[in-house]
Amino acid sequence: MIKYQSFTGEFSRRIATRWRRLVVGSSSTLRRARATGSSGRGIELRLLLLTHGHIDHIQDVAKIKRRFGCPVGVHPGSAPMLSDREFFRDFGFQFEIEPVTPDLLIEATLSRDFLGMNFEVLEVPGHCPGSLCFFSRANELLIGGDVLFAGGVGRWDLPGGDGDLLFAGIREKLYPLGDNVTVLPGHGPPTSIGAERSVESFRALSGSDKRR
Ligand SMILES: [Zn+2]
Ligand SMILES: [Zn+2]
Repeated sequence: MIKYQSFTGEFSRRIATRWRRLVVGSSSTLRRARATGSSGRGIELRLLLLTHGHIDHIQDVAKIKRRFGCPVGVHPGSAPMLSDREFFRDFGFQFEIEPVTPDLLIEATLSRDFLGMNFEVLEVPGHCPGSLCFFSRANELLIGGDVLFAGGVGRWDLPGGDGDLLFAGIREKLYPLGDNVTVLPGHGPPTSIGAERSVESFRALSGSDKRR
């Protein structure tokens, strides 16, 4: 079974969600992760996979890469958000990132090996261009980024967002994965495909309160 842990790191609280979006290496790394408790100290990060390029998911990538020397993987659609210092400014946001050149470009595929762990990679845009979900069939586990949350879906009003595209992706790509699949969202508690499919939470959305 895959072992995963979410915790608050020393860079910022945001790392807590980002950790869910990365695949760490050997079992010894994972043991160390557990042994170090919530601080995250002692981690030997081997690979950082980004579900998408929004600022709250990439702000510390340069720091993490410098600290651990780990390769960083992202979809080509999100890559400019990571590598272009001015990207967010161009859309009117007062953010500036320390740019990082991705080491791996990741696109949708039925099977890809990351440090010995096999994932199907799904591209589910609409929240963000190049938004990826990493699915482990063997573990019935979806690392979903900001696509599907417990009781909500990702917002679609940011640059490159498209609600219809997002909803279609959730229906056509995520629901068929199976009701028992656990979803680790980019924000908030875990959920399951079945729980979200039964309420079709995006249908119930009337405002921005559940969008992240
Ligand atoms: Zn996002
Ligand atoms: Zn987010």
